[in-house]
Amino acid sequence: MNFADDLYKEIILDHYRSKKNRRRLDPADYHQEGVNPSCGDDIELFIKTDGGIISEVTYDGIGCSICTASANMLCEALVGNSIEFAGKVLSRFKGMLTRAEEPDFPDSAADLEAMQGVRDYPVRIKCALLAWSTLDQILSDIQSDANPQ
Ligand code: ZN
Repeated sequence: MNFADDLYKEIILDHYRSKKNRRRLDPADYHQEGVNPSCGDDIELFIKTDGGIISEVTYDGIGCSICTASANMLCEALVGNSIEFAGKVLSRFKGMLTRAEEPDFPDSAADLEAMQGVRDYPVRIKCALLAWSTLDQILSDIQSDANPQ
């Protein structure tokens, strides 16, 4: 266990313990549920938008430490930023965990780098990605609202 591992562990624990973003938004503009049966993680993501900006984002539900920490990181990284920014962070986070890409996050999303150790535990990758896959569904919903068929 080296210094970076300890630091990353501490960042993940801080996000796991934080209750700041753990609440339902009612009403929310967008809402999706994500389930990871292999671990028992079951979370919901709530988003309010204002002119292309994510004005509020929260989560609720039951998840392991990795899943919960990742959901909190998502909220912290995205609030006040654009939908486009959310898509960019999502694809970089996925790239880091599933394609072993080097972490490359904007400042407000820098804590996400702490999750790179999860790559060494393939069964936990789904835990780390759950909130982000749920975000992916919401981004599709936003996209179809912007371009109705
Ligand atoms: Zn989990």
